[in-house]
Amino acid sequence: MVESRIISAAPIPEDEQFDVSLRPRRLKDFTGQTKLKENLSIAIEAARHRGEAMDHVLLYGPPGLGKTTLGAIIAEELEVPFQQTSGPVLQKKLDLSGILSTLQLKQVFFIDEIHRLMPDVEEMLYSALEDFHLDILIGTGPGARTHSIPLPRFTAIGATTRQGLVSAPMRGRFGLVLRLNPYDVAELTTIVERSARLLGVEIDDAGSQEVARRSRGTPRIANRLLRRVRDYAQVRASGRITKPVAETALDLLEVDRFGLDEIDQKIMRTILEKYRGGPVGLNTISASIGEEAETIEEVYEPYLIQLGFINRTPRGRMGTDRAFDYFGVDQHRHRNPQPGLF
Ligand code: ADP
Repeated sequence: MVESRIISAAPIPEDEQFDVSLRPRRLKDFTGQTKLKENLSIAIEAARHRGEAMDHVLLYGPPGLGKTTLGAIIAEELEVPFQQTSGPVLQKKLDLSGILSTLQLKQVFFIDEIHRLMPDVEEMLYSALEDFHLDILIGTGPGARTHSIPLPRFTAIGATTRQGLVSAPMRGRFGLVLRLNPYDVAELTTIVERSARLLGVEIDDAGSQEVARRSRGTPRIANRLLRRVRDYAQVRASGRITKPVAETALDLLEVDRFGLDEIDQKIMRTILEKYRGGPVGLNTISASIGEEAETIEEVYEPYLIQLGFINRTPRGRMGTDRAFDYFGVDQHRHRNPQPGLF
């Protein structure tokens, strides 16, 4: 049975040290996401030119694509301090006011999983983002007073895997809203080569490509697979990662040829087998596999669409010929009759 942690894009404890050591520090070292980088570099340059705090930025996209990395890069490029927290950590208003009151002028304040803030904490954040004020209630009962404390102008960077769960008033407070997309194999190959260099691992072009191809469009998974393949190469091969070495190591770990994880597989099998290639609605897929519709749409589907396995149509999701081939499902026996074909 495949160890599902390996191919899940969520961070695992072993990642931490490597995530930090392999993290690019400057925008020029951040591979891919060309359009997003262009937008960011304009905003960074403009802020630097004016000597002001940069606009707030909301980054969204599936896990492991580089949102935290970009947050730190923005701070580095702006030459300002970086402070990081996350929605679930900020349980009470006091937690947020505590951090806000220590912020320095123009610094970057990164809030991961911003869709998971408590409603009252979220509300407190609004005025901090909008007019750089912290409203706190002092006292209780009829004598209670709201005090408005000015904050230095700072740059908030919100990150979320679930854009659909970010409320409209929150979203409206971010000047830049940027989406990260899954990486293609060429981009991931560049990332694998860079990480191998940093880790002092010898790897050839075909070896890097093999690791990249199985990384589910996700740099975090690419780095994780590289570490596993490195172990295999050191123990069972000469230490050098070639295509056959990568293939054997990844087959041994039961990593799918396209890096698909358990949920990707369930989604595809539901569309192809249970609903005979579709069209099938997102909510029906969601009910069949017991995963929220928005998670399927925002976290899983982008990669399956990038692979050319799913087409979105007005009538629902459809499995492509390519998907039928890959999953070895016989189209002629299973596929719904297509209008026009019969
Ligand atoms: P997220 O915050 O979106 O979950 P992270 O920023 O933590 O993702 O990225 C996970 C790891 O993947 C990082 O530590 C970094 O090493 C690597 N990474 C992400 N994006 C890139 C990129 N574009 N180029 C190189 N490495 C990347």
